[in-house]
Amino acid sequence: MFEKASLREKARELLTSRRLPERLSHRLRGTKNVATAARCRVCRERFAEDEMTWEARFDGSPESSRHYFHLDCHAAFEAERQRLQRRGTSSRRVPSAEATRGSRPKTSGERRRQR
Ligand SMILES: [Zn+2]
Repeated sequence: MFEKASLREKARELLTSRRLPERLSHRLRGTKNVATAARCRVCRERFAEDEMTWEARFDGSPESSRHYFHLDCHAAFEAERQRLQRRGTSSRRVPSAEATRGSRPKTSGERRRQR
């Protein structure tokens, strides 16, 4: 088995090289007895028979939309993903003033009352 720190390292590597999506996984579900050919996306190990695994599906990539993770591996992936996302979006995604203004147009009556 892998150390947790090295799992985090692997997960981070997969994320930064875009082999795993950085966005939130939709439809995460626990499953058992995954196909024996499947390997964990983080550590590349096979799953033991009867082992509890996470099946994650990501929108927008239909050809490889299903990923399997060991529970520990997914925890490492999720921790790294959130860390990267916090760091990445803080500068990129400033809430747009334009959008906020556009969503609630002021009527002429409202404008008059403010004066
Ligand atoms: Zn794993």
